[in-house]
Amino acid sequence: VDSQQQQLIQLHEKAAEVYHHMLVNTAVGQEALDYLHQRGLDDDLIEEFNIGFAPNQRDFLVRVFQNESLDSKAFPESGLFVERENEELVDRFYQRIMFPIRNFQGKTVGFSGRFFATEDVNEQDQPKYLNSPETTLFNKREILFNFDKARSSIRKDGTVYLFEGFMDVLAAYRSGMTNGIASMGTSLTNEQITSISRIAQELALCYDGDQAGVDATNRAISHLQETSRLDLSVVSVPENLDPDEYVKKYGQEAFVKLLEHGKETVFLFKMRYRRLNKNMANEKEQLEYVQELLHDLLDVDSLIEQDRYLTQLSTEFQISRESLQQQLRDLKRQNR
Ligand code: ATP
Ligand code: MN
Ligand code: MN
Ligand code: MN
Repeated sequence: VDSQQQQLIQLHEKAAEVYHHMLVNTAVGQEALDYLHQRGLDDDLIEEFNIGFAPNQRDFLVRVFQNESLDSKAFPESGLFVERENEELVDRFYQRIMFPIRNFQGKTVGFSGRFFATEDVNEQDQPKYLNSPETTLFNKREILFNFDKARSSIRKDGTVYLFEGFMDVLAAYRSGMTNGIASMGTSLTNEQITSISRIAQELALCYDGDQAGVDATNRAISHLQETSRLDLSVVSVPENLDPDEYVKKYGQEAFVKLLEHGKETVFLFKMRYRRLNKNMANEKEQLEYVQELLHDLLDVDSLIEQDRYLTQLSTEFQISRESLQQQLRDLKRQNR
């Protein structure tokens, strides 16, 4: 790590420290702290993840940094500020709950800030989450939230859980499932898949239960199948809930059970997913469904698994097993 990077890390560690201080020790952060408590984050977790609050003030961090007599040359490229037209720097993050984003070595290299609406501050046009911009330190293609802390438990049991949001990772963490990670609100990149593959054999996708979540699950499966040899499974969260909401509603014990015993095969996920936007009472759509699933069967390596699903399809749609098998062979030949 060169000295310029050291300097940027120092700025981030400093920022994380003051944001955290604002959240846990000051009246300015009290409402946000109450909110986090009410969402189920206790003080230990807030401490461990160094969660903070950026007050509603555009020169808050600017002033803190000036008082600390830090080298201001590094400020613009830190991503912590934005430049006004008159070249004046103002804080990028304000009125937000701050999640420090750490690199694989555990150093804070960026932030994700969740907008915190209050009675007096309620700007409708604010995005829910705001991330640090791409910098020499903060490479969104590589970063995975909580990967540094999760690494040892992932190694230990070979499994990693991939969530959509930070709050979901934290919900899992406080339930004792410390092997959860999340990307930065984007789809998985090849770089991230490579990093995960180095230490995990099995990856369980546990995205939000809503339509966006299942669509993202389907896309992630394709990408992971193309680029990795990870053993994939899907944990579907019921009732359109996201994992964090599930914990809130059903408790940590039920959630752990869901994560550990609710994994389903990719193919079973596909069987449900491909149905979602089809009218299965319609003959034509039914046949389309079977066709699509036969394509999906090509990605099932285990013959035993394949055999079982062929039987299932044959029974459900009253198509002879022989024709299904023949069709599958034809598809295999075309795909080669
Ligand atoms: P919360 O429970 O606090 O509402 P969430 O994690 O459930 O948050 P989602 O809307 O499900 O939020 O989004 C999942 C993830 O996608 C977030 O954790 C964040 O990383 C990312 N994300 C969401 N909204 C935005 C946004 N407007 N800009 C950038 N990233 C976003
Ligand atoms: Mn979502
Ligand atoms: Mn969510
Ligand atoms: Mn949520």
